Amino acid sequence: MSTRRDFIRTASLLCAGSAEAASTEKAREKGDRERAWRDDLRLHHECDLAVVGGGMAGVFAALAAAKSGVRVLLLEEYAVVGGNATLGGVNGFCGETAGQGEAFDAIVEAMQTFNAIADYKPYPEMDSRRFDHEILAVVLQELLLRRGVKLLLHTCFVDARANYGQVAEIMVCGPSGPGLIRAKQYIDTTGEALLARQAGFATVKGRPGDERQLPMSFVFFVREVAPDQAAPQVPEGWFEPIRTEDELPMTSLVKSGPGRFGIKIKIPKFDATDTESLTAAEIQARRRMMSVLDYYQRVEKKPWVLDACSPRIGIREGRRVVGEHVLTVDELRAGQRFDDAIARGTYYLDGHNPDDDKRTYILPEEQRQVPPYQIPFRCLVPRGAKNLLAAGRCLSADQLALSSARVMTTCAMTGQAAGIAAALCASRGCALPELSPAEVTAAVRERGARLDL
Ligand SMILES: Cc1cc2nc3c(=O)[nH]c(=O)nc-3n(C[C@H](O)[C@H](O)[C@H](O)COP(=O)(O)OP(=O)(O)OC[C@H]3O[C@@H](n4cnc5c(N)ncnc54)[C@H](O)[C@@H]3O)c2cc1C
Repeated sequence: MSTRRDFIRTASLLCAGSAEAASTEKAREKGDRERAWRDDLRLHHECDLAVVGGGMAGVFAALAAAKSGVRVLLLEEYAVVGGNATLGGVNGFCGETAGQGEAFDAIVEAMQTFNAIADYKPYPEMDSRRFDHEILAVVLQELLLRRGVKLLLHTCFVDARANYGQVAEIMVCGPSGPGLIRAKQYIDTTGEALLARQAGFATVKGRPGDERQLPMSFVFFVREVAPDQAAPQVPEGWFEPIRTEDELPMTSLVKSGPGRFGIKIKIPKFDATDTESLTAAEIQARRRMMSVLDYYQRVEKKPWVLDACSPRIGIREGRRVVGEHVLTVDELRAGQRFDDAIARGTYYLDGHNPDDDKRTYILPEEQRQVPPYQIPFRCLVPRGAKNLLAAGRCLSADQLALSSARVMTTCAMTGQAAGIAAALCASRGCALPELSPAEVTAAVRERGARLDL
């Protein structure tokens, strides 16, 4: 019986012939990637806008475009939307949470209704506004559905067909099998710029030189057992023991209810854009989780058992598109203004050192602060793209600039702007280069986003 995995393998074999491999670099230069696909693939959906990847950037892109009145499809390979925020167990909005735009306000308001978000305080008085990530997953899905977004969960983007900067159609695979989706406009919010890459646009990853990315981290939850219960213990001989505090990876502990804690541990030196490396990272994450739990049980005598763990490791950084503009750390430091500003970042340069699992950073503390800065629309446009935008942590920036712009507040703003721009193009039947960036800036402001510095 043919399975989804068989199909994906077949598709990649079809797409990765040696002749194509030889011309890949040439094709990348012009965003041109015609491919031979199985000719029995069915057209699953046609829409104005296909948003690929349901993390915060994708959700905000879909919410914003749907508000503009276009038909939006949002694809997500997991069971819930929210990406790192929900699947990765990240549960605090870093940076400023006011003036992000109407979609963000709608989410905050809904979270308040569920009593699932901390009260507002301005950044930097409050570094991170805590929320309940399980409730967030529900709130995001409900708001998407209320705005009429067509949601396809358990649907994996596989490949794209593009011609001279124009994405023609994409191949997806879900439980009902492989198929095609055709849209007027596309937004890549996969976090790994996977759609842009498969469509033939230039991408980069990690730091210059060796491409090493900021470390991933894994979030899991422990709970205390009742005092009359036997102290739990991880069985010996399964996992590498940690016997001193010095051997611990960077471990952040956050109280997550009575007798319950969230624990985040760093898992460095893996590549989120490489299937085997990401697999190794997930395996390592669960092993380290058990070693850390064992340490707390045996060495610190905590009465803790494993309560839950994130279904996916948290990915800080993967691939980024090479856009019409590459946002640089110098521009952040200068608080650069842009005529085509579509988002405003406030957070410091949160560049965890890619080389170890301790609380270490690329920059010394005194060099991490930046003033509020703007992100231009051109950072969302892969170079040469006519109907594809990229938002969230795969936008066009250098590694250090992204270490600030990757926080969820800013990802949401870039997603919102991408959704507004794509909807403008789709409703007018025009290509991105024909769109006035100043018009996007004005529309983003009208939606309540603060762009002034
Ligand atoms: C450990 C950790 C701690 C962090 N702490 C904070 C914090 O405290 N506060 C803060 O604001 N930010 C924090 N961040 C940063 C922030 O969480 C992320 O940068 C942000 O959520 C990224 O959003 P995104 O939508 O761009 O990407 P993602 O959240 O990665 O979303 C991408 C989505 O695309 C989907 N996808 C990928 N490939 C495919 C495919 N082929 N087909 C279909 N779907 C696909 C994924 O499943 C995912 O849902 C942290 C990040 C990490 C990893």
